[in-house]
Amino acid sequence: DELRGEIAPDARPRQVRGYTYSRINPTPVRDPHLLAWADDLGKFLGLEKPAERGPTIDALAGNLVTESMKPFAARYAGHQFGNWAGQLGDGRAISLGELTATDGSTWEIQLKGAGPTPYSRRADGRAVLRSSLREFVCSEAMHYLGVPTTRALSLVATGDMVVRDMFYNGNAKPEPGAIVARVAPTFIRFGNFQMMAAAGELDNLRALADYVILHHYPELGPPSPEVYVKWYEEICLRTAVMVAHWMTVGFVHGVMNTDNMSILGLTIDYGPYGWLEPYDLDWTPNTTDFGSRRYAFGQQPQIALWNLARLAEALGLLVGDVEKMRPGLDVYTTTFESTRQQILMKKLGLTALHPEEDAHLTGGLLEALAESEVDMTIFFRQLSHLAPELLASPEAEADRFNELLAAATYVPLPSPTHAPLLKWLGHYLVRLRQEPASPDTIKAGMLRANPKYVLRNYIAQKAIEAAEKGDLTYLHTLMEVLKSPFDEQPEHEEFAAKRPEWAWDMPGCATLSCSS
Ligand code: AMP
Ligand code: MG
Ligand code: MG
Repeated sequence: DELRGEIAPDARPRQVRGYTYSRINPTPVRDPHLLAWADDLGKFLGLEKPAERGPTIDALAGNLVTESMKPFAARYAGHQFGNWAGQLGDGRAISLGELTATDGSTWEIQLKGAGPTPYSRRADGRAVLRSSLREFVCSEAMHYLGVPTTRALSLVATGDMVVRDMFYNGNAKPEPGAIVARVAPTFIRFGNFQMMAAAGELDNLRALADYVILHHYPELGPPSPEVYVKWYEEICLRTAVMVAHWMTVGFVHGVMNTDNMSILGLTIDYGPYGWLEPYDLDWTPNTTDFGSRRYAFGQQPQIALWNLARLAEALGLLVGDVEKMRPGLDVYTTTFESTRQQILMKKLGLTALHPEEDAHLTGGLLEALAESEVDMTIFFRQLSHLAPELLASPEAEADRFNELLAAATYVPLPSPTHAPLLKWLGHYLVRLRQEPASPDTIKAGMLRANPKYVLRNYIAQKAIEAAEKGDLTYLHTLMEVLKSPFDEQPEHEEFAAKRPEWAWDMPGCATLSCSS
């Protein structure tokens, strides 16, 4: 109620003016039934796992709107692929309202795929099972990996068929529809502020800023021009921490438009994302981006900075001078560097004995990885076992390193591309020997910093294909595995396997488009 919202007369697409959101109800679906449920998140929110069909599922599919819900779609804009796109808004997402969790915190529940809104432009506001499943599993996986992210509570099939991506499977064949209930403190994005700034609606811009500060950054105190500047620095800091996690876990967002950047520094909008297989700075999963590779893995840190600069242009209107926002960009750069370094040090089992030399060591590792085409996840996980073992019994070091690369590589051995990494491993072991902790302690720390299980692209695709055939066992097992990504799970080794040959050209696996 602190923000100005309109009661949308209907869901016809249009330019909305003067409001930050539109009240609009979800459109009912034919036969909503539960496919998957995030138990831990449910418990945290005080919700029992519901039956396959019934009132809870009806609510999570948009078929049941209770008295206390105030469904709305947010009005936002954004830069897409570097170009100003004007009004975008929640075109296929409708928020039901907020829930109070067991710890007293409040969480917005948003249905993705719940039907048209005034922001749906040319599309139907629906989502297909494969994209909904991808968002559901990945956002939960990221949470358990310790990456700042929005969450997902439920994956509900609609019982309706949806025609989406004409490039998927070669034709525009109808696919099963599904709805994800996403959960976050708020889904407000950079683009919400850009929208108000671009429309010259300074009152809405200020109201939105004050709302976010009061509810989500209360530690900053009552809003004022000084607090807006401080707040922007905090956004820059959180964004830097998020991207440092992406870069060290091998996550590629795929479509870092400014409307897909959370004002809380959370990973948001899981679309054509992917996970690095061979470490490759130029890799992107997004087929729409194959030409420019703007959102490739290695571009992510500088794209986040570019997006933050666009946010500064909007928020600068609140302080009268965009230059006052500049320190935030420096906060971003230093925080990104220092956070990535801290994470890499943990991954390598190192403590801050020689900060300067260690920065050189991690820099050398990133360069060697870029040459090597090894699987990043497997490389670090194997190193967590091997390096401490070599401290304890330093026999056959060269052979053991070759074994490690053989396990992690995607190119035939021996390969000259591995030479820098082999050389680096030698330097690293010398440095690791200086650590005072015991090999066992080092190993335990490394195993907690280097996940065994990430959401491999081909594994997500296997879960989709099984679910489309009505088999949910694989999905449910996968979700359980991804809940403990740092544990050895001997009965689930297959989920940690390097991408097999057959998966390389799999549709929707190595390649995804924006609309999926
Ligand atoms: P995204 O690529 O998911 O970030 O979406 C960009 C914009 O397109 C947002 O305004 C979305 O709400 C809108 N959009 C994407 N898919 C649909 C759809 N199926 N129906 C309506 N709007 C959509
Ligand atoms: Mg989006
Ligand atoms: Mg999306």
